Amino acid sequence: SALQALLQKQERMTRQDLVTLLSLTDPEELQALYDAAYAVKAEKVGRVDYYRGLIEFSNRCIKNCCYCGIRRDNEEVERFDTVRQDILDMAQWTYDAGYGSLTLQSGERQDPEFIDYVEALIRDLKKIGNGGLGLTVCVGEQTEETYRRWFNAGAHRYLLRIETSNPDLYATLHPQDGHHLWQVRCDCLKMLRRIGYQVGTGDMIGLPGQTVEDLAADIQFYKDMDIDMIGMGPYVVHHHTPIGQAVVAAGLDSEADKLNRLHLGLKMIAVTRLYLQDVNIAATTALQALHPLGRELGLKAGANILMPIVTLPQFRAQYLLYDNKPCVDEHAEQCRNCLSARVASVGDRVGLGQWGDSPHFFEKN
Ligand code: SAM
Ligand code: SF4
Repeated sequence: SALQALLQKQERMTRQDLVTLLSLTDPEELQALYDAAYAVKAEKVGRVDYYRGLIEFSNRCIKNCCYCGIRRDNEEVERFDTVRQDILDMAQWTYDAGYGSLTLQSGERQDPEFIDYVEALIRDLKKIGNGGLGLTVCVGEQTEETYRRWFNAGAHRYLLRIETSNPDLYATLHPQDGHHLWQVRCDCLKMLRRIGYQVGTGDMIGLPGQTVEDLAADIQFYKDMDIDMIGMGPYVVHHHTPIGQAVVAAGLDSEADKLNRLHLGLKMIAVTRLYLQDVNIAATTALQALHPLGRELGLKAGANILMPIVTLPQFRAQYLLYDNKPCVDEHAEQCRNCLSARVASVGDRVGLGQWGDSPHFFEKN
């Protein structure tokens, strides 16, 4: 059939092909898309899913992104910093639990104290298991010098979502104050590559004003930027943000809208897998905010990375980027058991004790 021929094109797909696949709605055609993507996953990265224990260590942020629940102007949020020893203890737990890697995430800060703190923290984290723990950092835009210091301290992956590859759409989602510039974010991704990081990026899917063409362009952006890891997920409303309130007021957050964003998120995973082949792709928690089985569906659509939350239980309710965030009432041990069941239900296995680096990174280096 025409669809099968299209699915065979894989990395040779055109922008229009990407748009066509992202626009599928027929359940049988969707299943064919997911099956084709899962087959590429099995061939290129294997039916093994890797964990990155996620430590959300602080919700302080100098930015004011109009969609995000922990934006600077949200005064309903109680700000926290995790005690250094607690971070190290959580990291040790992560290592002992056999998660190969850790992701260190927070709001954005650029002050010297923060930069020094993260640098020293990375050094200490690398001592766990004698450097046995893979380490991804995700703390926003920084200078090249800062990225270099953290790389030299032992961080080897960095995650910075472009959010959208469309600069005009980006502008509608951020304050126009000179501190939320698409070009700066794009330049950061180039710096990270230059320094030698495995570079991760991604977008939010189903944003107000975003078209299927925008999403197809995002996937081509990943390819053009030679990205190694993709962390993307549906946009989910946070009730106390400008964008969230506008979306609700416009009547665009019905159950049908949410389901639509979930399906768009799954299609993005599948089409990205077909087009980029050997990169790591995360089934992010936001999928599960929209559907109880969101993350399993992500794995079946071609994702191979899960990010179990390791954040201390007492801080989870203060790190709500969006409403209905799952796992807020759980502790790390529960998340481990829950996720291994999810992986097994898909028919994959967990790559315990391994870093699970992006094959794409080594392919070109
Ligand atoms: N502050 C850093 C940054 O922005 O790069 C790292 C942490 S930030 C909370 C991580 C990601 O959360 C952002 O890149 C954004 O895509 C996502 N996010 C924020 N608000 C969201 C929302 N309402 N729905 C879905 N994802 C959201
Ligand atoms: Fe801060 Fe990141 Fe949220 Fe933007 S998305 S407000 S930088 S935590």
